[in-house]
Amino acid sequence: MIAATIQTALNNQLNEEFSSAYGYLSVSAYFENIDLRGCAHWMKLQYQEELIHADKIYTFINDRDGQVTLQPIVAPPIKWDSPLHAFESALQGEQHLSEKIYQVVDLALKEHDHATHAFMQWFVNEQVEEEAMVRDMVRDLKLLGDSKDGLFLMDRDLASRQPGPARDTQTQG
Ligand code: MG
Repeated sequence: MIAATIQTALNNQLNEEFSSAYGYLSVSAYFENIDLRGCAHWMKLQYQEELIHADKIYTFINDRDGQVTLQPIVAPPIKWDSPLHAFESALQGEQHLSEKIYQVVDLALKEHDHATHAFMQWFVNEQVEEEAMVRDMVRDLKLLGDSKDGLFLMDRDLASRQPGPARDTQTQG
């Protein structure tokens, strides 16, 4: 069994991951609408990654004999001013997720819940990757400025991303 406080924190994190997935899906739809199919594809894969994260937490709560409680998901924005703005909002989303994950880790330490603490380390490491990856995109888009040629090439590049982590340095999970 897990402590009620940990169970609540994990259920909240489950909701955060689903909310993040929803956010990415909305950004993907935005890129579809402005005909940047590569960016849309990249965001769709992020959406799928977040669903995998949610599923990990779902499984963990059940494995610990806890109670999964699904909560409402707030509707994400549907429009952004520019591709840069869309990626910046994705970066803010990842930074928000990291903060929430650290809070669960802090609570696990406080409650001496070693299993939850160990489980959450995967997420701590994953967030370093996620933030770095989205930050790279923001940096590239800032470098491109108003270059339509650059945006075209970047979009074509992102279209080739395969499912799974965008970087192949991860072996856990
Ligand atoms: Mg996640």
